[in-house]
Amino acid sequence: MATREAFQEELNPFEIAKQQFNRAADYLNLDASLRNVLQSPKRQLIVSIPVKMDGGDVQVFEGYRVQHNIARGPAKGGIRYHPNVTLDEVKALASWMTWKCATVGIPYGGGKGGVICDPKRMSRDELERLTRRYAFEIAPIIGPDRDIPAPDVYTDEQTMAWIMDTISMVRGHTELGVVTGKPISLGGSLGRSEATARGCLYTLRQACRVMGMSLKGARVAIHGFGNAGANISHMVAADGARVVAICDSKVGLYSESGIDIQEALRHKKETSSLGGMLGVKEIPCDEVLTVDCDILLPSALENAITMANVGKVKAKIIAELANGPTTPGADRVFADQGVFLVPDILANAGGVTVSYYEWVQDQNSFFWPEKKINDTLELAMRAAFDSVYETAKRYDTDMRTGAYILAVDRVAEATRVRGIFP
Ligand code: GLU
Repeated sequence: MATREAFQEELNPFEIAKQQFNRAADYLNLDASLRNVLQSPKRQLIVSIPVKMDGGDVQVFEGYRVQHNIARGPAKGGIRYHPNVTLDEVKALASWMTWKCATVGIPYGGGKGGVICDPKRMSRDELERLTRRYAFEIAPIIGPDRDIPAPDVYTDEQTMAWIMDTISMVRGHTELGVVTGKPISLGGSLGRSEATARGCLYTLRQACRVMGMSLKGARVAIHGFGNAGANISHMVAADGARVVAICDSKVGLYSESGIDIQEALRHKKETSSLGGMLGVKEIPCDEVLTVDCDILLPSALENAITMANVGKVKAKIIAELANGPTTPGADRVFADQGVFLVPDILANAGGVTVSYYEWVQDQNSFFWPEKKINDTLELAMRAAFDSVYETAKRYDTDMRTGAYILAVDRVAEATRVRGIFP
């Protein structure tokens, strides 16, 4: 039975995003016209990016920028470099940004970009040329009041610096607010690099309160060790949690008594891998999702938890640092089992929230101290958690559906008030 369901399960991220949207639209009794508007990406740009490789040959990469919705403000969302990027994935990620920004109440729509490439097999010079040419190709549709990219999977503050410089050269003036997640020396914000994890930590503390659990002493498993996964690991450890399992894209680590996170971070930095650490057991990456633990933090890519493995997940609380890690089928199983799941559009919204603070600081050329940023983020995340929790209770549904009801209602209202042009 499980095998048959797993076989039939929808795994296309954009189809999943539409299912999630329509579930909320049903609760809100949205009419067909509004549904059509809200589930369609407003603009999709496909570009070919010719790059001179170090060996002298030219390779052409395909890139995308999708603006899903701009009813509440400019499009906002990261750029992903990954060999498995597809247009449908970018469309899904762009729509999740629309709902994420609405969930935390920041004045943005949703956008996302992606380039099909394998950054691990490219030199720094090749990545710089790829980034600058991609930025040039999407230049006509991005800008501080149009669409503001940021880092995502396998892009970072250096990537943002190259984009900011390229756009500034094209426009003839320094354009600080065209991207967020920049280096501090270029108008970046204090606290931005850790913001996704920090925002998740704030929602996780609230989730523990709701479930009558304590983060102190809780056994935590973290699937993914990029920016979000690595940062949350030391944050939950600092709150007294025992991190029993982690993984990067190649290997998982398990220790019942808890992994030394400072040592893991040092090892990963020095060797670029989690493999070969002493005093821990190596396990397959995806076993991290199903180890015995109290809290699971999926922090890698989409579709980590599907009908094929949901039955083996043991955590009582799940907070999604990744975008789209759980399929709708797995969602229903968790809801039936009383697993408390903090959905991606809430749990990982701290990143884009501090991106918003960065953009505001850039526009005013006035920069805030880190404490002010973290305190403002904490208030925003707690308020968003409470609104989602109350909405879920009011509609007698799970937290993901609660978040979507809240978000879709906000975007629908903005669309209704603006009206359809012309
Ligand atoms: N890529 C991040 C996300 O998925 C950050 C987006 C942003 O800061 O604009 O939320």
